Amino acid sequence: MSIRVTIWNEGRHEQTNEKVRAVYPKGIHGALAEGLSEEGIATRTATLDEPEHGLTEAVLADTDVLIWWGHMAHDQVQDDIVARVQRRVWEGMGLIVLHSGHFSKIFKRLMGTSCDLKWREADEKERIWVVDPSHPIAAGLGEYFELPQEEMYGEHFDIPAPDELVFVSWFEGGEVFRSGCTYRRGQGKVFYFRPGHETYPTYYNENVLKVIRNGVRWAAQARGAKPVYGNAKPLEPIRPKE
Ligand code: ZN
Repeated sequence: MSIRVTIWNEGRHEQTNEKVRAVYPKGIHGALAEGLSEEGIATRTATLDEPEHGLTEAVLADTDVLIWWGHMAHDQVQDDIVARVQRRVWEGMGLIVLHSGHFSKIFKRLMGTSCDLKWREADEKERIWVVDPSHPIAAGLGEYFELPQEEMYGEHFDIPAPDELVFVSWFEGGEVFRSGCTYRRGQGKVFYFRPGHETYPTYYNENVLKVIRNGVRWAAQARGAKPVYGNAKPLEPIRPKE
């Protein structure tokens, strides 16, 4: 049985910016859907402009892992849809937040911090170091891999201390950044992965796609597990024997 992945993309840069459209003619969601699909991973896409942002109760109920890319329209995501996604994470749906999704409502809500960071667009090289080589999300990678041009994200990144830190990025300008962080929220697994500025062909990079595919496999829960969230029953008190 394949892992059911829904790739959510805001999809606005592709509509308004010629440069982004040239890099991602099928949208960031379209590129990810093609790049991530392999045996055992079934992808579908959803975008901001669809009714309910494409994230209906039925779609989320049929999603093992949700991938999130957004940037310029975070505030246009309806709060009730954000609450719906959060509830599904608590129930066990995996969530992978990419790049500028650090400022999305859902990520900020799950983290409980500002999620602010430093940034600079200067076509810099990014070297992504694997700092937890035994982690399943780092499977099949070397000591590091590089992206020839990316936007810089720098510390301080205002997130809670990650449960696991898998990657640290270095940039030509000298900054470093915690670029691969895992969390558990409720019964759901959350993975934040930094690369993917919209003007660079990052989501065609084989190492980036490998990391996201690894993240999908890591974040997916065993199918059929009954969510216990909200179903807890009071126990009889245990009394010492007379
Ligand atoms: Zn960016």
